[in-house]
Amino acid sequence: MTPTPPGRQVDVSCSPSPPILEVSGLSVRYGQSVIALQGVDLRIAQGEAVTVLGANGAGKSSLLRAISRTLSLHRGAVTSGDVRINGEPALHWSPTRMVRAGVVQVPEGRHVFAGLTVQENLRAGALTNRSRKARERAMAYVLDLFPRLADRMNQRAGLLSGGEQQMLALGRALMSEPRVLLLDEPSLGLAPRLVTQVGEIIRQVNERGVSVLLVEQNAAMALSVASSAVVIENGRVARAGAAAEFQDQKQLAAQYLGSGPQAERLAALRRSSADEGPTLRRWSA
Ligand code: ATP
Repeated sequence: MTPTPPGRQVDVSCSPSPPILEVSGLSVRYGQSVIALQGVDLRIAQGEAVTVLGANGAGKSSLLRAISRTLSLHRGAVTSGDVRINGEPALHWSPTRMVRAGVVQVPEGRHVFAGLTVQENLRAGALTNRSRKARERAMAYVLDLFPRLADRMNQRAGLLSGGEQQMLALGRALMSEPRVLLLDEPSLGLAPRLVTQVGEIIRQVNERGVSVLLVEQNAAMALSVASSAVVIENGRVARAGAAAEFQDQKQLAAQYLGSGPQAERLAALRRSSADEGPTLRRWSA
């Protein structure tokens, strides 16, 4: 595994298929002073799973927001570079057009519509799915994947456990039958057993042909799901390659992900703030 020289084209894709998602030279800012990303390149082939790893504040969420066209909701902007979907320039698409093109983001923090039932949340995810048959097919698939949601269809989402809310957020994204899933730290705050379950579900979804861009701090889970990995450090791609090249996770954690007592305290704090007890979270885009 060799460091990536700045400015060099990074191609982490392990697949010979043409890319469904291509990011090139992407730079992102918040306001005048915060530079979140600088010249990031990334390619994902149809059906591929790629993980983006990095310490807190490295720029991972900014990358997903730039792709899903939701940066402006966070007062951020792309200052240079390009995003292409199936070869089409998509940098100026609306968030809705991105979803219609099959690129769907599950933001960090398992956002659900707390006051709506599980069923209503899932239906809301299928709004771009025009055909009734497609909506029924998606619902059957999601309930098969998440039997716990099937048991709680009429329960308010705000009363679900943290793990169940994460499943609902994933399920809702799947209701639009996406071609590319952008996942922002789906394991955040979950107990280890649930992290394993989330990883397994992402693998199953990917095996059905959905391309996945998985942002994670849990490198072990992410590398067990993805075929390729990109490490972002201070807004730049520091390393990229096949997931198998990142076997030395201790070294990876120490070098790029921030390990040691401070990081462990932060991780414990994040876990305790969002573990399995009922949480009342409101949807915010
Ligand atoms: P984390 O793992 O903690 O979520 P991250 O790798 O996803 O971090 P980003 O959230 O993309 O990192 O943040 C990249 C940089 O941009 C950080 O310096 C962060 O403080 C800054 N930033 C992110 N969102 C905003 C915002 N809405 N306004 C100003 N600065 C922001």
